[in-house]
Amino acid sequence: MGIQTRLLAIKYRGLIGLVLVLSLIFGLSWIVTLHEAPHAETARGPASLNVEDPKFTVVVRKKSGKAELSEVEIPELAGKPAFENENIKIVLGRSNVAIPINVGIDSSDEKLKELRIKAANVFYHTLIARKYFTDVLHSEEVKNLPQVTLRLEMDDNFSELGHYLNKNTDRVYNNSGGIPSGKPFKVRPCKPGDYETWDHPYDYCGESAWGLETWYRPMKSINTAEMMAAMPVDPMKPTIDLARQVLYPFEGEYAVRDFVVWLNSSKPVIGELISPLWGVGKTILYAELGFEAVKGLNRLFVPHHFWIDSAMVPEIVYHEFTHLALSSRVSIRSSSPLNEGVADFFGARIANNPSIGAHIGKYLKGRPHNGKKKHTQYQLSYEQYNSSSSADLSDFTLSFLWHMGDVLTPEKATELVYEARYLLNPEKTDLYSGFTDALIKACWGVAPAKQVCDVPERDALKLSEYFRSRGL
Ligand SMILES: [Zn+2]
Repeated sequence: MGIQTRLLAIKYRGLIGLVLVLSLIFGLSWIVTLHEAPHAETARGPASLNVEDPKFTVVVRKKSGKAELSEVEIPELAGKPAFENENIKIVLGRSNVAIPINVGIDSSDEKLKELRIKAANVFYHTLIARKYFTDVLHSEEVKNLPQVTLRLEMDDNFSELGHYLNKNTDRVYNNSGGIPSGKPFKVRPCKPGDYETWDHPYDYCGESAWGLETWYRPMKSINTAEMMAAMPVDPMKPTIDLARQVLYPFEGEYAVRDFVVWLNSSKPVIGELISPLWGVGKTILYAELGFEAVKGLNRLFVPHHFWIDSAMVPEIVYHEFTHLALSSRVSIRSSSPLNEGVADFFGARIANNPSIGAHIGKYLKGRPHNGKKKHTQYQLSYEQYNSSSSADLSDFTLSFLWHMGDVLTPEKATELVYEARYLLNPEKTDLYSGFTDALIKACWGVAPAKQVCDVPERDALKLSEYFRSRGL
């Protein structure tokens, strides 16, 4: 599927939706047939799935920052029947069976074709992120990390007690997030007839312990115009807050926001593929402008739709893998300025794209929690409901860490952050207590951190000066 096709697909979403509904109806008999097939056979899937030296379409970003769909080889998947190797497994929703390698091939179903691109994209970029940790940072932890499960189109809520919350809860869209490993409080036995294929989960019977996971939420277009139209003429703050909750259903995930900031700032280099994402930035920008100018809310400024497809953005995949890679040292149980900022930092490093960190730095120089920073477009960008100060802080963390590369070298700064993980308290350390301490100790090489600085007497002093200049 070419970029033009994709753009057309976006332009004619309504029509395609109708076509999809029709094909769904016509396809139903086929699906029913599939699910009624003998269990042993469907559980294994067709035997003819192996593809030698498969080629895949993924999103790659060029040096200019422009993103495009490109054909790549993924040697790790050669001869594999599904998107799974010893380190990474890509599944659909709640299923624990990997998505078949040839999903959507020889099919006219656009959704399946798109699923293959998403599965390949997440697999490909997770490999890149993993290689960064194992080959550049020589991470033994990541080398020994058990297989991670990456769920696409996953709209469930997470439950510490049972993996998934009841299906009756609200669905989650337009973001992504890390899931800590765990085991169910109570295992529901499977009944005869319960079986699992890649597109048909057990539906939470037989669910046993799960490992580290990332959930990539489905993209969903939210009709902002309808939402705004339903608002009173002069909405007061509670209404705005409510609107924010609808517009930003991101449950503690800041990566997307950072991208929106970046996309807002990179208009000239945004490629055709990412232009829908640029639309996201504008939506938020205008919506926030609208929220800011409460009294004279101009609904004409608010674009009609809003969505983001996190599985299609390489840097989000890097950010998410970083959460998993650091999860034993930096908690992923809840979002904090520290864990989001650090994930943003490694995400930007893996992408080797300084425009993310550097740009944010340009807009956020001062101490973040006094609320006195210069008025910038950044402030109008996506923020999580009721935790804007914490969102600001995670951007501050990214900017702060990124510019540490100007004090040391970018490579040394990255190594320093990575070694400092040993000196953090996973649940307690925050930006103001313990983090800079850990960085200085890693510079000197306080065990178990390896000494990162070549001349600690000089470099630790430079670092301290830098921390002070950033108000830490
Ligand atoms: Zn995150």
